[in-house]
Amino acid sequence: MRYISTRGNAPILSFEQAMLSGLARDGGLYVPEQIPNLDFKSIAAMQGQSYEQIAYTVMRPFIGDTFTDNEFRGCIDRAYAGFNHAARAPLVQLDQGHFLLELFHGPTLAFKDFAMQLIGQMFQTVLARRGDRVTIVGATSGDTGSAAIEAFRGLDSVDLFILYPHGRVSEVQRRQMTTPVGTNLHALALDGDFDDCQARVKDMFNDLKFRDDIGLAGVNSINWARVLAQVVYYFSAAVALGAPLREVSFTVPTGNFGDVFAGYIAKRIGLPIDKLVVATNQNDILHRCLNGYGYYKGETIPSISPSMDIQVSSNFERALFDAYDRESNTVTGLMNELKGRGFNVSEGAMQALQEIYRSGRVSEAETTAQIAATFKESGELLCPHSAVGVKVANDQRVTKTPMVTLATAHPAKFPAAVEDATDICPSLPSSMADLYERTERLTRMPNDLAVIIKHIKENRSQ
Ligand SMILES: *Cc1c(COP(=O)(O)O)cnc(C)c1O
Repeated sequence: MRYISTRGNAPILSFEQAMLSGLARDGGLYVPEQIPNLDFKSIAAMQGQSYEQIAYTVMRPFIGDTFTDNEFRGCIDRAYAGFNHAARAPLVQLDQGHFLLELFHGPTLAFKDFAMQLIGQMFQTVLARRGDRVTIVGATSGDTGSAAIEAFRGLDSVDLFILYPHGRVSEVQRRQMTTPVGTNLHALALDGDFDDCQARVKDMFNDLKFRDDIGLAGVNSINWARVLAQVVYYFSAAVALGAPLREVSFTVPTGNFGDVFAGYIAKRIGLPIDKLVVATNQNDILHRCLNGYGYYKGETIPSISPSMDIQVSSNFERALFDAYDRESNTVTGLMNELKGRGFNVSEGAMQALQEIYRSGRVSEAETTAQIAATFKESGELLCPHSAVGVKVANDQRVTKTPMVTLATAHPAKFPAAVEDATDICPSLPSSMADLYERTERLTRMPNDLAVIIKHIKENRSQ
């Protein structure tokens, strides 16, 4: 299995190399040269299997010879052993034909744990074998950072620096990043928004000398290994609802487009997905784009679903790459235009995108109303991101095909929004009950590349 860059100007890599490097050296994103197919029988055989077994079947063809079969099974088993639900990603019924896929039973209570826990195990296995170490730098709008910090806690071959937008993450998210104890873990509060954090990380990856000097690696949602890990729960959910004999639709609360892109990959592998619906909050660049209005940036407006407060969705480049028939020169041109206001999508590419993705946008008031309505109708407490998904799913679902809405975080991660809507303050699971008493450790950073680079050089372990 070989991985190529969306911009066509970086070395072709193995899974191991693509995982360790994150962003391609030409600024592009790695994608598999070909998508392996699972036939009807292989998917049917997943019925009744454990999450780990399904994970192995789905991901094995993408791994190439990076791991032996046993190594890879070990990584998967260790990654999900710490989840506090036997099904890992359980389905809960909301209504006739509408199901919630609960992706918040991992250590930091959000779906990012699915990918990050596995990445931690895979990095550890590869680096231990090489006798190597890396410095990981990541940007987060909240949940990636805590998931990464949990995943790399105690892994001494990795120094981890996480940039998050100061004052723009929830208190639970912040505390999950600033309270874990480990000399290799560094939470950096940047004076800026998530797009600034993401831009500074991109700058560091594009500084090829710095990149090589410190062995820079990335675990942001641009890392192919993260997308891959997220493909698995589309299979486990669809198979539980009758696939491959029956089509299933998914609605995905979307920010950086990693999660919904994983759904597209599941479809390409052979899972019978009918509709794949992108749900955005008021930061709706994707919704506008998928409705034919071009991909144009605006201001990021803080919302009650902060993990979706972005204006540029980095994984959308992968979708564009396929929509433009993998013409890397065209994609490179579009990404250059994106340094300005944005760009128009060609008619052909637009058609290709609309064949796969639908979309909906949800206002702040509608989000709050949906949290209240779902609680009243089914007794389920939704986090605001999941509520954005449920609202869009309700608008788009049809009776014949089951709709699965991804519940991306536990309601207790966003207690203010939930309490506002329901008068109920959701409580944290017992493993996290003392989170508000733990000591915080963080460094404030100006939005200044040179200062950030200096800090990283001085504070990594070697
Ligand atoms: C990251 C995140 C999202 C957005 O997922 P993308 O893969 O970036 O589209 C949605 N909800 C929550 C709770 C998240 O943490």
